[in-house]
Amino acid sequence: MIYLDWAASAPPEPEILDLMRDCASRFYANPSSPHAAGRDARDELERSRETLARIFGGGRIVFTSGATESNGVCLLSLLRRQRTREERGKPIRVVISAIEHASIHEQVQALAGFGISSTLVPPDADGMVSADKIGESLDADTVLVSVMAVNNETGAIQDVKRITDVVRSFSRGRRRILVHSDAAQAFGKIPFRPMELGIDAASISGHKIGGPRGVGALWLSDDASLEPLAAGGGQEGRKRPGTENLPGICGIVNAAEKRISDLEEARGEAQKKIDVLIEGLQHVPGICFFPETRGTRKIQPSFSPHILCLGFPPIPGEVLVRIAESRGFLIATGSACASRKKSRTRILEAMGIPSARAFSAVRISIGPGTTAGELGSFIMAMREEVPAALALAKKTR
Ligand code: PMP
Repeated sequence: MIYLDWAASAPPEPEILDLMRDCASRFYANPSSPHAAGRDARDELERSRETLARIFGGGRIVFTSGATESNGVCLLSLLRRQRTREERGKPIRVVISAIEHASIHEQVQALAGFGISSTLVPPDADGMVSADKIGESLDADTVLVSVMAVNNETGAIQDVKRITDVVRSFSRGRRRILVHSDAAQAFGKIPFRPMELGIDAASISGHKIGGPRGVGALWLSDDASLEPLAAGGGQEGRKRPGTENLPGICGIVNAAEKRISDLEEARGEAQKKIDVLIEGLQHVPGICFFPETRGTRKIQPSFSPHILCLGFPPIPGEVLVRIAESRGFLIATGSACASRKKSRTRILEAMGIPSARAFSAVRISIGPGTTAGELGSFIMAMREEVPAALALAKKTR
């Protein structure tokens, strides 16, 4: 089987698994225990934290169970904030893009039940969120803005720097608006420097970068103040209680170091591979790239070279996934976190793509282990399989 679903989960690097095993057996003690073994585990934990903060260029690190929890720590902290004295009685609002991952989108919907309202800013037809539109949606009640760095379905790279600048100029002389970015599909894949972007918080995930799943981090700037909701043993600076997953932390930090040191070369390679894929698939009759402009080379810098969204309407995405699997390729219908939901076309529909077309979408995502030969075979398989599937889909429509 050829794995083309790296955005859902990347295969873990064998050397990272070895390091994790070593860490699990050496530092088995609880990092909060006061004895020598506990102190050793704590030293290892703090060394890992410093390494990750150094990769980010500064700030603070809160280790979590993944990007979902990092996003949740940030958003759920608003509940406490809503209760603080100076804010009691005053409404609180968050501004997010309409193309956020379910762990932001659905969490924000859940907050509505607690009196925290939200504004969803739609993207343009290319899946880009305009900084000006974000600016227009800010008001005196806005306490948080969250816009992802790279969209997990289309690969659209968002201009987080401009968005942050717009937010900062709006809030000059007023209360600081927290700017958060979900960087699960950006970190370790394209340059992502939160200090330069001027944001307050960013979420990352271990299993997107060749590390383990079930571990992530929330990066916080030195200025960010965030009062977490969960309470317990006070770990992670009281922001994420619970005994720290030290082997997982060792895994994510080592995977991050590796991905960052290889980033430019790997990104160049990924760009070459995705260009070949786009070029090859362009000749398959019925192809439809989402967004359409993805098929034109000149705007490629606005997209992650690791993610490509396409379809052959009216072949349903699920059918194309099965056809691909029967030929030995593992691809996805959009985000794995939305694949079992009716809302699986939410992102594409927010871009103005009619749902009938959006239902044909599949996501192909690549990583450092993907070879040009594998992509060549995928193109061939699509050339051979699509015409008959297309004829059938049109007949049964
Ligand atoms: N945000 C984005 C953009 C993602 O792609 C994902 C993974 N589907 C997540 C958050 C959730 O990450 P995790 O699996 O680490 O909770």
